[in-house]
Amino acid sequence: MQYFIDVIIPIPLPKLFTYSITLSEANFLSVGMRVSVPFGKSKIYTGIVSKIHNQEPTIYEAKEIHQILDDTPIVNQKQLQLWQWIANYYMCTLGDVMRAALPSAFILESETVITKQKKQIDESVLKDDEFLVYEALHHQSSLKIHDISNILDKKNILPVINRLIEKEVITVEEEVYEKYKPKLVRYVKLHSNFSSETALQKLLDDLSRAPKQHDVVMILFSISAKTKKPVKVSDLAKKSGSSNAIIKALIDKGILEEYHIQIDRVQYSGGNNEATKRLNDYQKSALSDIKKTFNNHSVTLLHGVTSSGKTEIYVKLIEDVIASGKQVLFLLPEIALTTQLVARLQKYFGEQVSIFHSKYSAHERVEVWNNVLHNSASASPLSSKAKIVLGARSSIFLPFNDLGLIVVDEEHEQSFKQFDPAPRYHARDTAVVLGNIHQAKVLLGSATPSLESYFNTKQNKYGFVELKHRFNDVLMPDIELVDIKDKLKKKRMKGHFSDRLIEEMTETLKAGQQVILFQNRRGFSPIIECKTCGHSPQCPNCDVSLTYHQYRNQLRCHYCSYNSAIMQDCEACGSQDLDNKGFGTEQIEEEVKLLFPDYKVARMDLDTTRGKYGYEKIITALEQQEVDVLVGTQMLTKGLDFRNVKLVGIMNADNMLNFPDFRAHERSFQLMLQVSGRAGRTDERGKVLIQTYNPHHNILQQVSTNNYIDMFNEQMDDRFNYKYPPVFKQIKITLKHKDYKRVDDASIWFSKSLRQVFKGNVLGPESPPIGRIRNQFYKNILIKIPKQQSLVKTKEAIIKINNSFLSIKDFRSVKVILNVDNF
Ligand code: ADP
Ligand code: ZN
Ligand code: ZN
Repeated sequence: MQYFIDVIIPIPLPKLFTYSITLSEANFLSVGMRVSVPFGKSKIYTGIVSKIHNQEPTIYEAKEIHQILDDTPIVNQKQLQLWQWIANYYMCTLGDVMRAALPSAFILESETVITKQKKQIDESVLKDDEFLVYEALHHQSSLKIHDISNILDKKNILPVINRLIEKEVITVEEEVYEKYKPKLVRYVKLHSNFSSETALQKLLDDLSRAPKQHDVVMILFSISAKTKKPVKVSDLAKKSGSSNAIIKALIDKGILEEYHIQIDRVQYSGGNNEATKRLNDYQKSALSDIKKTFNNHSVTLLHGVTSSGKTEIYVKLIEDVIASGKQVLFLLPEIALTTQLVARLQKYFGEQVSIFHSKYSAHERVEVWNNVLHNSASASPLSSKAKIVLGARSSIFLPFNDLGLIVVDEEHEQSFKQFDPAPRYHARDTAVVLGNIHQAKVLLGSATPSLESYFNTKQNKYGFVELKHRFNDVLMPDIELVDIKDKLKKKRMKGHFSDRLIEEMTETLKAGQQVILFQNRRGFSPIIECKTCGHSPQCPNCDVSLTYHQYRNQLRCHYCSYNSAIMQDCEACGSQDLDNKGFGTEQIEEEVKLLFPDYKVARMDLDTTRGKYGYEKIITALEQQEVDVLVGTQMLTKGLDFRNVKLVGIMNADNMLNFPDFRAHERSFQLMLQVSGRAGRTDERGKVLIQTYNPHHNILQQVSTNNYIDMFNEQMDDRFNYKYPPVFKQIKITLKHKDYKRVDDASIWFSKSLRQVFKGNVLGPESPPIGRIRNQFYKNILIKIPKQQSLVKTKEAIIKINNSFLSIKDFRSVKVILNVDNF
């Protein structure tokens, strides 16, 4: 009997590859373990075993695996089931999913490293080709397989390598695969030689001539007597005020003994856990309603106005679930932006909470992975860790074994959808499937639900619970629309500030309260325009104007990071009359400084929040009231809870509303209500000013009256009439190539073929608003899929067309991107 395994490798191949294994390997291996396998001419990949079987492949001869990398599976069956669903639904390969799912430290591809053995050998026993390799290793400490292939100028070099190993000339390094190293901490204790009274007395006498060393030993005694815990080298150094050199001398003399203990990189440093809060009556009834809906729904949407206390409700549900021994996944749009929530959950649940963070290092990610993986084995000392995982979209890939609850907070956020690369999954929708696999309940929460989720509650697919009162019955903020067209006419604008906004700001700041000013990121990038000829500097690689960055005095492209110094005169006509068009957060910050010189302004956007703690610093400054006015982008909307913010100003609503996207209105509504929700969260009613050229716009009326239902109904009419989600599903096909003619022809061919199948439900090809990025030209085609049309059959038809497309020689170099449920 022969044995084979099917292996998922982290590259986009439509099918899995089969490798042959021996009987003993078959007995050792199980599904979910990693193996390293040869692929192509000289590549070696880390793969995941997906099936063990006896069917020899018919089309090719199965190669042998290279080595087995695990003793036990690192990926479980439930994960593999989810991977398969993602690959099918989002039209990508299992390799794509694997690459997104595993921490990169698990899948570093390595080419085997070859080094010379230390001992002397008799060169005369070496054949010519063997000698070449041997000699090369005198010049270079290590070689890779493909280096050797180059030296010998042939492909099949394994026989040579095998002979060299037999002759004990070289060794093949295997440790290249195990990239993760646990973090070790150095501890010291007194050497056991001195455990007796007399030996110790003698030691201290001897040391009387080395007072510094004597001190260190005495301090070590007092620390260990006090804490009764192992003593870190770093603590000893600090407490004794002595240098590492002195401690090292003591270790070298054999007086102190050094040892290491493995610790988590991701550590919780808090004290004892705090009790969770008592819910008020509204929260209590919402909680019991949620539990009721869970009797006949696996997914429920909680629509609770901003500051209604949704988080405290999640907390109660989480408590129940972990008491029952199950795991909880808490999904957030961007973990880096939710430090306040993280702190809150850690206060309640301590080290049971693990955070899966996009800014974590590879090592830290592996640690969280392992904690979640080992969490199910209750005997493990890790068992209390990672009961609750708090993370952004990629945390759906962690090795959960027994989920009881998934919370998706701010479920309307578009950042739950991965845009690039594949898998282009939506974490909220994938969470629903994940919940299904675990038979877990899923709670979606938002003050401004997505039309998709709200529509699902209307169809009775999801349960629905509402929370209409803010905590402590704080009033919803008073929202005022300011007509800037009128203000301009009456000359009541100073820069981008209307007289109303200046009045309200003055009053708020005088009263010692804080102000938040919101500027939408999209379409507001400041650009330079020539007043004489109208030219504005363009990116040489993309079809966009360069953005002006004042603080660096630079022009930058936001798509490809091209940058150049700002020019003195117009490139086109030479005029020196250049103007600043558009306005970003930076300009607003400058204007605030001029208008309110006595107050402190800060800015929160991509530029000011780089780095691991960039964001925290600004949030803390606002919390500590070191900042009076905070100017920011979208980042401000994400569930922040500030006590002293009284006024929120939205600088310009129109660009948001006019953005060319069928979701623009829905998003504007969500954004504006979310930012407004930052005002007046304690006792005093907050105030919001929205500046706009079009105060009669329906969305603005709906925002100012907090009327979600009106917004929903009106937008759903549009979606219905124009065949958009959630009424129709849609798949976007993007083609790109560096040659415009090529991508143009290709997209015409593609859309024609699609039209033969899907008739009028195909839109395009069209050039997107930015038709060229990084010197690649783009074309989009949209397929609209009615509810009654089979999604599976639709995808099959698309794949068939795509395969014919790829078989056309001219089109082979055109890149095709499939995006299901595109955002
Ligand atoms: P949401 O998530 O709905 O915007 P939060 O959960 O952030 O609302 O609650 C708003 C504020 O009210 C927070 O400062 C929170 O600590 C407080 N809060 C909510 N529920 C309670 C409660 N039951 N007891 C005390 N404070 C509460
Ligand atoms: Zn000009
Ligand atoms: Zn560019």
